[in-house]
Amino acid sequence: MEKLLFGTGGTPHSSRTKTTIDGIKRIAELGLGCMEIEFVQGVRMGETGARLVAETAQSEGVKLSAHGPYFINLNAREPEKIIASQERILQTARIGAICGAQSIVFHAAYYLGDPPGKTYQTVKKNLAEVMSQLKRENNRVWVRPEVMGKPSEFGTIEEVLNLCTELEGVGIAMDFAHWHARTGKSNSYSEFTSILEQIKRRLGDEALDNMHIHVSGIAYGKKGERKHLNLKESDLQYVELLRALRDYQAKGLVICESPNLEHDALLLQETYHNL
Ligand SMILES: [Zn+2]
Repeated sequence: MEKLLFGTGGTPHSSRTKTTIDGIKRIAELGLGCMEIEFVQGVRMGETGARLVAETAQSEGVKLSAHGPYFINLNAREPEKIIASQERILQTARIGAICGAQSIVFHAAYYLGDPPGKTYQTVKKNLAEVMSQLKRENNRVWVRPEVMGKPSEFGTIEEVLNLCTELEGVGIAMDFAHWHARTGKSNSYSEFTSILEQIKRRLGDEALDNMHIHVSGIAYGKKGERKHLNLKESDLQYVELLRALRDYQAKGLVICESPNLEHDALLLQETYHNL
């Protein structure tokens, strides 16, 4: 990526309709640079539709990513649930790739009371099978487990970075709001830069050239994330975060998941360009 692009998680509220195509057109009208297609309730787009999405994104100059279904748990107890989870990631990657998405993101797993180390091994094994299948299909989309906001959810920064170093084609979806909610910290310039430093140390400079970031305001408590908030109604130090991203010359997509979507995406973009 040449620079940092800003956009929304899902179709902007001000789009003419809720369709992905109208969403992409609206992103371009607003002067934003990217959009994440939300397959969170299931991948309900066919190949023909995906090709139209790709054409629209290409002509409008909008970069895309895709968010996989919520019903994924690579640490499920039942083998059939593991297979269904793997299938949902594969479907997201297949349709996402036809859409021209460079990355897909998903929520990898729950610990379900297992020790984190054991969960990690299970997630790694099950995700490795997905990656092998994608390789056989010659699908080169970046597969990015998300850094998660609750201590019950698999997905610390360390866990995701470990997957990245062990599995080819796996990247990090760095959700700064989730990490802040999970830790109750990680909300200052020095903490943001130390995260970027950690990513650089583990994955190299090229990871900072190809970032996938989620940002929103967030409400949180002892059990981590409670709900997403608009930036100005939250305590998230987004100006400091943007400063850190600028100083580390991070490039890639910044997806805004605030309830007000494009409003905060534009706020992030304007703030970043006025730093
Ligand atoms: Zn997510």
